[in-house]
Amino acid sequence: MERRSSRGERNTASFRESALRRQLARTEHELQITRDRLDLLFDNAVDAILTVDLGGIIESANPAAGRMFRYHPDDMVGTDVRGLMVDEGDHSGDAHDGVIDLRTTLILNREATGARRDGSTFPLELVVTQVELGDRALSTVVARDITERKAFERRLTHQGTHDPLTGLPNRTLFLDRLAHALVTAERTRRPLAVLFCDIDRFKVVNDSLGHTAGDALLVAVASRFRTALRTIDTVARFGGDEFVILAEDMADEDDAVVVARKLAASLVAPVRIDDQDIHVSASIGIAVTGHDSMTPDDLLRDADVAMYRAKSNGRARHELFDADLRRQALQRLDTENALRRGMGLREFVVHFQPEISLTDGRIVGAEALVRWEHPDRGLVSPAEFLPIAEETGLIVPMGEDIFTQACAEACRWHELLGDDAPTVWVNVSGRQLSSPGVVDIVRRSVEQWLPRGDALGLEITETDAVPDDERGRRTVQELTALGIRLAIDDFGTGFASLSYLWRFPADVIKIDQSFVRRLDDDRDATVLVKAMIEMAHSLGKTIVAEGVETEQQLSRLRRLGCDTVQGYLLHRPLSAPVMEGLLTL
Ligand code: C2E
Ligand code: CA
Ligand code: CA
Repeated sequence: MERRSSRGERNTASFRESALRRQLARTEHELQITRDRLDLLFDNAVDAILTVDLGGIIESANPAAGRMFRYHPDDMVGTDVRGLMVDEGDHSGDAHDGVIDLRTTLILNREATGARRDGSTFPLELVVTQVELGDRALSTVVARDITERKAFERRLTHQGTHDPLTGLPNRTLFLDRLAHALVTAERTRRPLAVLFCDIDRFKVVNDSLGHTAGDALLVAVASRFRTALRTIDTVARFGGDEFVILAEDMADEDDAVVVARKLAASLVAPVRIDDQDIHVSASIGIAVTGHDSMTPDDLLRDADVAMYRAKSNGRARHELFDADLRRQALQRLDTENALRRGMGLREFVVHFQPEISLTDGRIVGAEALVRWEHPDRGLVSPAEFLPIAEETGLIVPMGEDIFTQACAEACRWHELLGDDAPTVWVNVSGRQLSSPGVVDIVRRSVEQWLPRGDALGLEITETDAVPDDERGRRTVQELTALGIRLAIDDFGTGFASLSYLWRFPADVIKIDQSFVRRLDDDRDATVLVKAMIEMAHSLGKTIVAEGVETEQQLSRLRRLGCDTVQGYLLHRPLSAPVMEGLLTL
């Protein structure tokens, strides 16, 4: 029993021993697997993994570390980890002591600059962890190459701040730089200048040569401007053909003018696009900071105003924003406010100028012409307020009011004369034509007031008759679909292509006053007008001559076969009641 029991104990002991041994072997096997797994991870990781002692000396480096820094991993062992990085000195906190402070227990996702063996550098992201191994403290350093991510981030910010076509700064970046520059200018007391450049007749190039050529031209101009100026000057593109320059550290206004001259000089040589030499010029407006403190918006606005003066003074030139322009700008602001007020008070009324048929002397049409019944200034002519109404967009609501007044009056004529009532002709500007609701406004006016669509006609100037986009073309189509008539106004004054104009769906051509005036003493004008009339007739169109002031003009027009005449000789524009009286005479 004893023996059995002692044998039993021995058996138990050896059983335990072998169980332990098996256990150990299993553990060792598992450990081996774990170790293999770790080695696998270590060897195949994409990130560089290093173990480093607290003195910064590398104890192990994985193959990725070797690839990243261009060493054999074994050669890295024993060297200082700080040799793998460039100290940029702009990190805070844990960044002294070379590149990373290894006494810090944990550094997460810190960005640093890696240095390869050949001296080239690249952006890195680091994770540093301090670990206890036995009785020693060690650091593991995991480094990731973030070159691609950085490039992507840069592309993103670039997109938000640059013009994709030319690569120049866009409005956002320009305004940001301008705001900073204004602060500097105030401190240094050195003025800065903003130059607003608009490429002259860019639209013509774009329309005639196509958008690709237009884009190529803009890119060429961008590079001419860029090379003409100092590197510290900002050249930005605000879209379209508008380039804006910020020139800092000017001595005075003359310095700014020198910049404008450089810009102009850079465009003197023609730009070659598709085997064609294109001559470009720019109208440049300059605004320089002065005594008053100015905001970026002030400067841009002033430079823009000066640019408009350069354009109206004949293009291909520069103008400086000065006291004169400031006064004009203020006056404009006054007029704009007065226009808004006047619209609220219904101060805009429509007058009508009869158009007389040369066949039977009847009034076949009447042109609606807007007048401003100003409380102090009396009857103000449209030449004085329409340009400002155009610029501010007030022309759109004003135009709607004019349509209503004109059609309501024409309704009276139809009540009085039935089918013998004259067509009412309303002027519409390009801006009005391209405003979204224009077709609806015309449709509503016709439906509310007129018996038929062709009781109303629209006068569109030659330049506005050439729509520059698909929407413009669609608008014209929709208007003709309403049955209304169309006339090309001021014919012969624009630069529109004649072949296009003849195809435009207008049944009336209005010869501009300037030709009519020259009929008195200019034989060439007679030949021109004759040609226009013959051409129009061959296409089934009616010719109206406007601005007829003398008997001689009238008789020449009659002889040349003109259909209809309008002018002071026959009638001045008349108020609605006077016009009604004339029709019922
Ligand atoms: P427009 O369309 O060429 O209109 C003809 C202009 O010539 C009118 O000037 C008219 O009063 C004037 N006129 C008529 N007969 C004679 C004449 O025998 N001799 C001279 N020297 N002038 C004559 P107004 O009314 O001052 O209009 C000027 C321009 O303003 C118009 O030129 C037109 O482009 C624009 N406009 C006038 N009313 C409106 C309107 O309701 N809407 C829009 N969008 N523009 C308008
Ligand atoms: Ca007209
Ligand atoms: Ca006209």
